[in-house]
Amino acid sequence: PSAPRPVPGACFSRVRPAPLRQPRLVALSEPALALLGLGAPPADDAAREAREAEVALFFSGNALLPGAEPAAHCYCGHQFGQFAGQLGDGAAMYLGEVCTAAGERWELQLKGAGPTPFSRQADGRKVLRSSIREFLCSEAMFHLGIPTTRAGACVTSQSTVVRDVFYDGNPKYEKCTVVLRIASTFLRFGSFEIFKSADEHTGREGPSVGRNDIRVQMLDYVIGTFYPEIQAAHADNSVQRNAAFFREVTRRTARMVAEWQCVGFCHGVLNTDNMSIVGLTIDYGPFGFLDRYDPDHVCNASDNAGRYAYSKQPEVCKWNLQKLVEALEPELPRELGEAILAEEFDAEFRRHYLQKMRGKLGLVRAELEDDGVLVAKLLETMHLTGADFTNTFHLLSSFPVGPEPQGMPEFLDALTAQCASLEELKLAFRPQMDPRQLSMMLMLAQSNPQLFALIGTRANVTKELERVEQQSRLEQLSSAELLSRNTSHWADWLREYRARLEKDREGAGDSDTWRAERLRVMRASNPKYVLRNYIAQNAIEAAENGDFSEVRRVLKLLETPYHREGEAAEVPEAEGHSYGSKPPLWAAELCVT
Ligand code: AMP
Ligand code: MG
Ligand code: MG
Repeated sequence: PSAPRPVPGACFSRVRPAPLRQPRLVALSEPALALLGLGAPPADDAAREAREAEVALFFSGNALLPGAEPAAHCYCGHQFGQFAGQLGDGAAMYLGEVCTAAGERWELQLKGAGPTPFSRQADGRKVLRSSIREFLCSEAMFHLGIPTTRAGACVTSQSTVVRDVFYDGNPKYEKCTVVLRIASTFLRFGSFEIFKSADEHTGREGPSVGRNDIRVQMLDYVIGTFYPEIQAAHADNSVQRNAAFFREVTRRTARMVAEWQCVGFCHGVLNTDNMSIVGLTIDYGPFGFLDRYDPDHVCNASDNAGRYAYSKQPEVCKWNLQKLVEALEPELPRELGEAILAEEFDAEFRRHYLQKMRGKLGLVRAELEDDGVLVAKLLETMHLTGADFTNTFHLLSSFPVGPEPQGMPEFLDALTAQCASLEELKLAFRPQMDPRQLSMMLMLAQSNPQLFALIGTRANVTKELERVEQQSRLEQLSSAELLSRNTSHWADWLREYRARLEKDREGAGDSDTWRAERLRVMRASNPKYVLRNYIAQNAIEAAENGDFSEVRRVLKLLETPYHREGEAAEVPEAEGHSYGSKPPLWAAELCVT
């Protein structure tokens, strides 16, 4: 590694992982390591300990695997809507590729292994909390069935860095931690954006940097390696080949974001440098899963404008694909790329989203036009009642169906228990500004609207005013009133749902077979466990105190997120709280950036 510098004309720079003091394994993912042919777990304790020590040695970066050629990739990107220039692997190092006996090929990467030429002012390190989140979520997403980069191991150490300084001026030392990431490739949209100069990106006149030949090589490499069918089908026509490639990237991206929406996953930092060229979920930072359903939920606390809010993810992914079109010009003519995007993205998103949602609702036979409306009304009802996203869907599989449904009152009780309580709502909508600060802002808004808009507080003030209004409404509401309101909202939607289910059953002939099929599909579509912030937080706090057992337990839990045959009621958490429950009150305080 050397001092931060621009690296014109290069896609990769050779680097070396910087060693860590006393690397120690936090957790490893057996199914991810198995991809690399790293074998089954040893049976006895001594052998297991030896293996853990070996994993810690090699996947901290303290030792290199034979044949490894570490490198950092140079890419750029649009961050929060703005062209950001050269970024690159500032905290990640590519180690090389593993080709398995089964004919598979996997890229290995260490995240947090020290500085690279692309680290800019930062140190190339990652800390325990962010690494545990990336490690757990990569594997959780895989087991949910969502395309993602994988995580093989999480290794911490006695080396430290400072990320935060307390108000009293004391620095907080955090342990340097490395995650072994595995994917077919880590190349991104930004890997193609790097071949244009800043002037070309911003539309201003400027010198051409003459990297077009490398762009062509990169395109040949990506298509030839990751889209071999497309390469084979269009070997003699590069424009057609590139168009087919972009069409496939568009479809994969649309399906990926549809999958996110269906499990309530919010990525948090959907910059073009965090968009995989093969349609994987990549770069787990301030991500979050929806607890209480709110389409405007923003999981990244530093995303003030809410650019990457849950409901905006599909359009943002489409915007990112538009940037990819611009980066692929002239190898892919601009109008052709834009036509493909317009043709494919919305349609593929809609198709995949509806198909998944039908599964979540257990609509297994008929496909009716109005199904999209039924889904939208469900979400609206969840929003109105503050229902927990994961648990509401999970509960729907026990909705009493059939001509004489039994147990409706119990079902409604269970459903309303997943709606936000008065206490939860008061916490969720608690004002976040000092009242004096708010009135100052409002005065500024009146007296100097331009300055007000310029300092970018408009969105914050609007949100704060909403919170203040919500609070006063909540003050006037009793729990009994809230419950009766929620019950009536749900009764309305459930009536429509029941009518729709009848149509599904009619198309099926035998009722029992239909019921069994419906249950099977719903159980495979509605997870019971997702990596909620509070679950990650429990594991992180234990790990920061030197106890890694909770990380390992949560990993195991998330390896089977859907229904388990013959499962005992619930998997208990340390304080008797079930990880299948909506978050405890303290979780309202959690903040990730
Ligand atoms: P991200 O927001 O995680 O996608 O990162 C944006 C850019 O910052 C990328 O170029 C990263 O490689 C770089 N980066 C993130 N964290 C670090 C770090 N700890 N040290 C150096 N560079 C970093
Ligand atoms: Mg990134
Ligand atoms: Mg990141």
